[in-house]
Amino acid sequence: MFTLSAMDHGMDTRRTTRALATEAVHAGRDDLAGLGLHAPPIDLSTTYPSYDSRAEAARIDAFATTGAEPDGPPVYGRLGNPTVARFETALARLEGTESAVAFASGMAALSAVLLVRGSMGLRHVVAVRPLYGCSDHLLTAGLLGSEVTWTDPAGVADALRPDTGLVLVESPANPTLAEIDLRAVAHACGSVPLLVDNTFATPVLQRPVEQGARLVLHSATKYLGGHGDVLAGVVACDEEFAGRLRQVRFATGGVLHPLAGYLLLRGLSTLPVRVRAASANAAELAARLAADPRVAKVHYPRIGGAMVAFEVHGDPHAVIAGVRLITPAVSLGSVDSLIQHPASISHRIVDADDRRGAGVSDRLLRLSVGLEDVEDLWSDLDQALGARSARPARPEAMAQG
Ligand SMILES: *Cc1c(COP(=O)(O)O)cnc(C)c1O
Repeated sequence: MFTLSAMDHGMDTRRTTRALATEAVHAGRDDLAGLGLHAPPIDLSTTYPSYDSRAEAARIDAFATTGAEPDGPPVYGRLGNPTVARFETALARLEGTESAVAFASGMAALSAVLLVRGSMGLRHVVAVRPLYGCSDHLLTAGLLGSEVTWTDPAGVADALRPDTGLVLVESPANPTLAEIDLRAVAHACGSVPLLVDNTFATPVLQRPVEQGARLVLHSATKYLGGHGDVLAGVVACDEEFAGRLRQVRFATGGVLHPLAGYLLLRGLSTLPVRVRAASANAAELAARLAADPRVAKVHYPRIGGAMVAFEVHGDPHAVIAGVRLITPAVSLGSVDSLIQHPASISHRIVDADDRRGAGVSDRLLRLSVGLEDVEDLWSDLDQALGARSARPARPEAMAQG
C-alpha cells in the first residue's frame, strides 16, 4: 500500500492510499486525461527548441547543481525524456521511493551507481555472493575502479571501511534464490547505502526500501518489461541520489530509448497479475520437482516468485537439450518459460571456485516459469528429465532457498 495525499492530487475522497494493482495501471499517467489522451504518447525527440538561450543556460546550471529534472521540456535527449520519465514515476511509486532513474540496461544502472560513489572517493564495495554473473564480474574485475570485499550477510558490518561506498546484495539471489534478511543487513550497513537488486522479487513481492535499503536496482529487462523484448535497467531511490544518477547518466550516456520506456510502462500495468500467476505455476512445479526422484534438490524462495532452481542427479545438459515447450535460453521474467544452466551461461564469467563457493553447483538448472498451463510445463519438464528408472531414487526434502 502507498500513501498518496488526496489533496496533492486534487481528489475529493477519503481513501488516501492506493493498492499496488491500482498504482500499476495508473501511476505515470496522471496527466493523460488532461491532455485528452488515453494511451501515453511516445516522445522520440532528441532535442527541444528554445529561443531563450539565457533560460537554457540557467536550466543547465540547475541540472549541474542538483541533477533535478529540468522544468519544462529537456534540453537534449540525454538529459531526460518525457516517455521514459513516465516509467520512472510509475516504478518509483511501486517501490515506494521518491524517484527512479532508468538506464539502457541493468548493467548500465549498476555502473552508474558505482560511478556515483566512486566519484565521491568511496570506491570500496561490500557484496554478498551469489550475484548475477555480470554484476559479480564487474566488481571482481574492478572495471570501474572499484574494489570489492565479498562476505556473507553476517560479515557485512566487519567488512565496512572508511572508503566503503556501497553494500550490494540480491535477494532472492540469481541463480540460487538464496534469501537475505534485508532488515538485518540494512542495520549492519549503518550510514553506507545498501543496494538491493530486486530483479527476482519485483515490488509485487518485496519492497526493499521498507526494510532499510537506500537503493533498489532492477534489470527491467526481466519482469518489469515482462515480454522478452526490452533491454533496460532502473534504480529506485531518494531524490538526492537520483540527481547524482541523472548527472552520471547525462555524462556517460547509458540512456533508455523512449520506445523502451513506453514498453516498460505498459509492462508495469500487468506486473502484479503476471507475477502472481507465474508464481502459482512456479510453486506447483517446485513441489513436483521436490517430490521427484530424478531431482536432488529444489530451491524455491520463502517469499515465493516465479523462479525455481533445481539440481538434478543426472546430466543437466541433457535437460537443456530435452525441453520442447520451455525455451532453453538465458534471461528470465518473460510471459513464456525459459531454462538455462548457470554454470555454462549466466554465471560462466564467474571463476569456477567462486561460483561453486557461492552455492552454484554444476548440476544446478535455473527455470523462469511463465504463464503457460502448469500441466503443459510439467509434462515438458517430465520428459526432459528423462526416464525415471534411469536415476537413483534419492528424494530429498525441498530445501528453502
Ligand atoms: C539480468 C540481471 C542483471 C543485468 O541486467 P541487464 O538488463 O541484462 O543488463 C542484473 N541483476 C540481475 C539479478 C539480473 O538477473
